[in-house]
Parts: sequence; structure tokens; C-alpha cells
Amino acid sequence: VRGLVKHYPGRSRAARRNGPIRAVDGVDLRIGRGEVLGLVGESGSGKSTVGKCVARLTDPTEGRIELLGRDISTINRRAMRPLRRDVHVVFQDAYSSLDPRMKIGDIVGGPLRQHGEGDAAQRRRRALDMLERVGFRARMATRFPHELSGGQRQRVALARALVMAPRLVVADEPVSALDVSVQASILNLLLDLQADMGFSCLFITHDLSVVEFISDRIAVMYLGRIVETATREELFAHPQHPYTQALLSAAPVPDPRTTRAAGRVVLRGDLPSQATRIPGCPFHPRCPVAVDRCRTEVPPLAGVTRADHPVSCHLVDPATGGPDITQGRNG
Ligand code: SF4
Ligand code: MG
Repeated sequence: VRGLVKHYPGRSRAARRNGPIRAVDGVDLRIGRGEVLGLVGESGSGKSTVGKCVARLTDPTEGRIELLGRDISTINRRAMRPLRRDVHVVFQDAYSSLDPRMKIGDIVGGPLRQHGEGDAAQRRRRALDMLERVGFRARMATRFPHELSGGQRQRVALARALVMAPRLVVADEPVSALDVSVQASILNLLLDLQADMGFSCLFITHDLSVVEFISDRIAVMYLGRIVETATREELFAHPQHPYTQALLSAAPVPDPRTTRAAGRVVLRGDLPSQATRIPGCPFHPRCPVAVDRCRTEVPPLAGVTRADHPVSCHLVDPATGGPDITQGRNG
């Protein structure tokens, strides 16, 4: 994904004054084969919109999206259809995405039918096989969504997303509506299936412990932009962007042996609305270490040379890294 922009025409008075809502405002992303890229940010940061653009459920306003080397950013619905085999989406609310009148076996077999795969008997076999891979017995195929628990429904949604053996799965908050104990089982299942089937995954969440559990690499999003990207280990051990540091400092630390920064930083104010136009660094109104140029100049996503770890902050020194807002410089 290069230079992805998605603007929505706003209808509110503020939107008429400030122009369109900039849900995504220039995002670059790369997801490797068999890699899980965690996209983390607060609600309203634009992460779901990135997911929808990547899966081509919506048209990007600007930018280039390549899937397996093919430019899909401007492709029309018809040309996209065969590529739909390769990209599948799992949403937060499995209940609303599963047709209540359909049996589970038919739901999971749906994509096979849409793409004209095999005959009815073959499709049935593949659907049953996929249900088994997500941990169900064959009799599950004849049940209906309302007979299932939230966790079971999310397994069904996963089975449906994977039945075509896609190359990329976009998972948007797939466990956020579930109890913590059920979350872990779904995340483990997703990781097992991913190791087994080798698909790439764009995993979208607001939850730091979830993103830490699931990701190979992590991209942190704030107000329509990526502010920092690094491997999971690097990001949690050496967060450089003040926003990332604040997020991590506020998260509960489950393991006392972690090297995570000790100071807790409370950011002032809430995430501004996407309709607000903020000059300079979009984080500056809330940044405890902002300097003058932050109010006028947009920091590029560059910076720390170590470990392929781009950061968008004026105070990041390519050699030594960024400011540490957890060490008493919290204004
Ligand atoms: Fe804070 Fe300035 Fe860095 Fe933005 S560029 S995160 S305002 S120090
Ligand atoms: Mg969302």
C-alpha cells in the first residue's frame, strides 16, 4: 500500500467548513507473505478504513494498492471478482455477517459456490473439512447461527474466510466482542491456521495485548496516518513515537519481567475528530514534548535506522532514537 488516502464527504457543519473527513491520510504499508501485520490505533484512527481499502470493499481516494504484484487500486468490481479468491475479511461482529436463515455448512461453503468451485458434493466436503479445521464436528454444518455462542460464530466466520485458501486475510477487530478467555482460543486458532495455510494477515485492533500476541510486525495508526512501524519485539522494547510510548505506558503489563517503560503517561484531550484539520504533526495538540516546528511541519515517516523501524516524529534522531516521554518529561 503506497500513499493511501480515503476521504469521505462530510455532512456536518464542521465538515462543510473544514472539507472532507480524512479517514486515511497517506498510509504506506507492506505485508509480507505469511506475515501477520498488526494495525493498532484508537477507534477513529482510520484503521478499519485501511482494511476496507486493502480488501477493496471501498474505493481509495488516492494511492496504490498492490496484491501479489497486481495493482488493484483502480480495478473495477468485475475485474476484482477473480481476485476475491485471494482476499477475505473477518469482521468484529460475526452475528451480523452470518445470514441467520442459512445453515452453517452452507455459510462456510458460500464462497466456493460464488466462485463456482467443484460440484455440490465437493463443496460440501470442503466446507466440512474447513469446519473441522476450526474445531467443529460434522453435525455443526446443519445448525443455524443463532444456536451458536459468540466464539463459535467467530470460528464459523473464520472457516468461511479461509475455505478458499486466500493469500490475505483482513481481520478487523475479530475478537473484540468476545470474552477474554474466548479471545485467546480464537487467536491461537488463527495463528495455527496461519502457520498451516501460510496466508498473510492484516490484523486490525485497538487492543495492545491482542496486537502483541498476534503480530509479527506492528504499525501504529493515529488520525489517518501511520506514526511508527516495527517488529513486535522492537516496538514493545523500544517504542520511539511519543504516541506509541503513551499507549504502551497506559497498557497493563501482564508480565513483570518485561522491559516495558515504567512511567505512565496520560495524554491530554481525546482523539480529535477526523474532520479537524491539524497543521504540522497530527499528534502535536496532545504531545507532551512538542516543539515549535511540530505545529507547522509534518514529520516524515523516517527516522530510526536501527532494525527497520520508521517513526514519524521530528524529535527522533536516526542514530539515537526518539524522546522518552515516560521519563518525567510529561508536560
Ligand atoms: Fe510530538 Fe513533535 Fe514528535 Fe509530533 S513531531 S510526536 S508533536 S515531538
Ligand atoms: Mg474500526
